[in-house]
Amino acid sequence: IVSDVSDKLSLKSFLVGGCVRDLLLNIHSNDMDIVVEGDAIKLAQEVNKYINGEFFSYEKFRTATIKNKEIKFDFASARTEFYSCPAAKPLIEYSDLHNDMYRRDFSINTLAISLNSDSYGKMIDFFGGYEDIKLKRIRVLHPLSYVEDPTRIIRAIRFEFQLGFKIDKADEELIKNAMELKLFNVISFDVLKEELKLMFSHGSCPGLIIMRMKELNVFKLIHPKVSFNFSLDRLREYFACLKSEGFGSYLKEWWFLCILPIIYNILKSEDRFFKRKWKFTKKEVLYIEKLKKFLLKFSRKRNQNIFKDFELFETLEGIPVEIICFLKILEEKPLNDYVIWFEKNRGVFKPLITGEELSNRSDIRPAFIGEILRNLKKERFLGNISTYEDELKFVNK
Ligand code: ATP
Repeated sequence: IVSDVSDKLSLKSFLVGGCVRDLLLNIHSNDMDIVVEGDAIKLAQEVNKYINGEFFSYEKFRTATIKNKEIKFDFASARTEFYSCPAAKPLIEYSDLHNDMYRRDFSINTLAISLNSDSYGKMIDFFGGYEDIKLKRIRVLHPLSYVEDPTRIIRAIRFEFQLGFKIDKADEELIKNAMELKLFNVISFDVLKEELKLMFSHGSCPGLIIMRMKELNVFKLIHPKVSFNFSLDRLREYFACLKSEGFGSYLKEWWFLCILPIIYNILKSEDRFFKRKWKFTKKEVLYIEKLKKFLLKFSRKRNQNIFKDFELFETLEGIPVEIICFLKILEEKPLNDYVIWFEKNRGVFKPLITGEELSNRSDIRPAFIGEILRNLKKERFLGNISTYEDELKFVNK
């Protein structure tokens, strides 16, 4: 359809980018990116007369999307981009296929397939992308590419794990050189966050992704003061724990749980920065607050008998299980011992008398039931009572 309509409107159109790459790799893709030399919205409108899908167009960017249950088409007018300074928003000018491909991130994403009938199916490879796909090599198109847009560094790591490719040695150097510059001050955190989310939604081992970030020295994109000190084994333990509790890449906050080991050491000192720049969700803020509250309480009580402190135990009980998984990998004694002990004893102090039993008693006002159960738990925790009869006596008193 796109081919016929392009011919009819005398527009040159091409299938480009990730879907061509995936086609060559035999990876199924429902996302078709089409670049048009000319008016992409007009082409998309005509195409949609045949498809009848949901239609969106963005005049400002001269792009349009058609979506139905099976497939999504993104149409864009070929354009070129100029960066006035590192990590700046690029200036846009409408252009031809070559320039549109040149603004792309990696050679493997620059292949195009002609859709017009006179050259239908012809592959156009301006930058050696085909060879790089064969060699499973991730390579930018020019040396300043990572400086112009540092989020490409995260994309490069994502493609390593998503496709099983490897960043080219020369690119590793470019990344390391780019990281010497203070890119953190100019990076767009919204885009960085989206790229981090995407990166951690791919690949089965986030621990390996984090170690790769460390190897390429890219934590500084997140914050220049990051001081990371987890081993791969510890990270693996953490992610195995999260997965055993049923958490995975589908979870909205998964990316946050993945970067938590990276930002942990500066959570306290850079609290305001993170909340402002990263626009954490309510749940993510809750994770941080609960974690900080517990750590503060723990540090205040660390010289007392923590195993007999009911308030501390209760605080930890109120912490989401995801954060408990994290606390377990902290190599800080006695904190680590305490969390492991807590895990073993979590349900042990639950009273034998139930709330239902208490609510059936006419001598107990409903408003007191919660407090009674809490006190019963505390008494069990302190070892003052242990049997059902003890509990009854305690309640009656
Ligand atoms: P996937 O669908 O697996 O995520 P993709 O290559 O389609 O892979 P997208 O993030 O959807 O990735 O991006 C679409 C295209 O836009 C890419 O093929 C790439 O050429 C281009 N692109 C995306 N982000 C950038 C960027 N930061 N710099 C340059 N080009 C980019």
